[in-house]
Amino acid sequence: MTDAQDYPIHGTITGPVVLIGFGSIGRGTLPLIERHFDFDRDRLVVVDPDGSKRELVEQLGYRFVNEAVTPGNFEDLLTPLLSEGEGQGFCVNLSVDTSSLDIMVLCRSLGALYIDTVVEPWPGFYFDEQVHSSRRTNYALRQTVRTEKQRNPGGTTAVSCCGANPGMVSWFVKQALVDIARECGLEFDIPAANDRTGWAELMQRSGVKGIHVAERDTQGVRDPKPRDVFLNTWSVEGFISEGLQPAELGWGTHERWKPANAHGFDEGPQCAIYLDQPGAATRVRTWCPTPGPEYGFLVTHNESVSIADYFTVGSGEAPDYRPTCHYAYHPCNNAVLSLHEMFGNGGTPQPELRVMEEDEIVSGIDELGVLLYGHAKNAYWYGSQLSIEETRELAPYQNATGLQVTSAVMAGMVWALENPEAGIVEADEMDFLRCLQVELPYLGPVKGYFTDWTPLTNRLSLFPEDLDLDDPWQFRNVLVR
Ligand code: NAD
Repeated sequence: MTDAQDYPIHGTITGPVVLIGFGSIGRGTLPLIERHFDFDRDRLVVVDPDGSKRELVEQLGYRFVNEAVTPGNFEDLLTPLLSEGEGQGFCVNLSVDTSSLDIMVLCRSLGALYIDTVVEPWPGFYFDEQVHSSRRTNYALRQTVRTEKQRNPGGTTAVSCCGANPGMVSWFVKQALVDIARECGLEFDIPAANDRTGWAELMQRSGVKGIHVAERDTQGVRDPKPRDVFLNTWSVEGFISEGLQPAELGWGTHERWKPANAHGFDEGPQCAIYLDQPGAATRVRTWCPTPGPEYGFLVTHNESVSIADYFTVGSGEAPDYRPTCHYAYHPCNNAVLSLHEMFGNGGTPQPELRVMEEDEIVSGIDELGVLLYGHAKNAYWYGSQLSIEETRELAPYQNATGLQVTSAVMAGMVWALENPEAGIVEADEMDFLRCLQVELPYLGPVKGYFTDWTPLTNRLSLFPEDLDLDDPWQFRNVLVR
């Protein structure tokens, strides 16, 4: 890969680099690693069971290991790769069907840095009909990593869930909060990166009731979606897996009503609830700058839980303050049609699953941000409005959705190199200013917008509805029932 431009080198990786998974995100991350880090090119290796990935990897001059990482082989396969030669290795896990926790624990035991974009389980977790819904939640997945963090605090840095969302949106939340606090005239200092309590208290003082990770993807291809094909702008397997998990949200202290099929958790921070229905078939009302009001899907994500947890004042089931937090995702129109078709067929995925590649997308942007609501200025969206055209100019092998993820991975790697003994961390626990500084050149326009929209705006009353008219920002009004 040759880049005519000079890019800033953000750090040096002294040992081997092991990239697990060379799908849409792995392929897009590699050019950013090449641009922004000094590393030994002879010791970068890509591991992927899909042999069709070999050609590009070798063309770029790297070693390709054509194997699946499995519960039976991950230690024997990864240990030599991560320990080859001098220096500290870096494992960049961008695969599906591998246990983030097991690989993270191995890396820390070897003293190798680690990063991933999701708490991924070994195969079987998402589609086991015998497993109770509560165990298929992201709350449960996240708890496995949080428990490991509690059991083994400190040590070699492992960054958990550092893509666009989960990941970058946690940095957006902090920037948005600072903007709101300033706009509301609060007197405050920006809390330090490790001052969780300070951040939570600032959120409480700002009067924020909740947060939507509000995303509208308008990227599209020329031809209409063919029947029996699931199209998306990133991993279709990944999206189907999370879309069939229960809808899940961080549960705020201002909420006065819960859906009848909502359940809490007995262990851990108890900061979230899940609904006994698939997230990708659960709609919520939200707002993004370009479309304005829109429906999004309440797909479960790690950040819904981690952000609610991070910004909690007090603890347990009845804390003093906690914001509601959930994803409100309007994927590209072809993915909306694909979901419609899939749920129409009992939830069984189509025979063909395909990511729309950067060269076939004709137009569109991925508008991905955070909507902080319920404060004195009503609501504020802050995020990235990256277009496919700008993406093509910025980096190869990816569409706008991909670049928002891969640039966050790169920023997370920079932070890990600068903080190599931070233990297991989530994006909420990292220095948002440093991470955004590194990532911003890849995000297109990054802007904030105040809006007077609420979930009750323009609401026709043709049918009886069970609304809370006293507080527009109740989940009761947000959820489409
Ligand atoms: P993808 O489906 O395009 O690629 C996944 C790759 O993993 C494939 O190349 C596949 O062959 C490989 N793989 C499958 N089984 C493997 C195994 N056992 N060992 C090693 N490799 C294996 O997916 P993607 O779009 O590149 O996404 C990758 C991961 O990133 C997914 O877990 C996805 O959920 C996550 N993701 C996170 C974000 C975020 O913002 N946090 C965004 C997009 C994707």
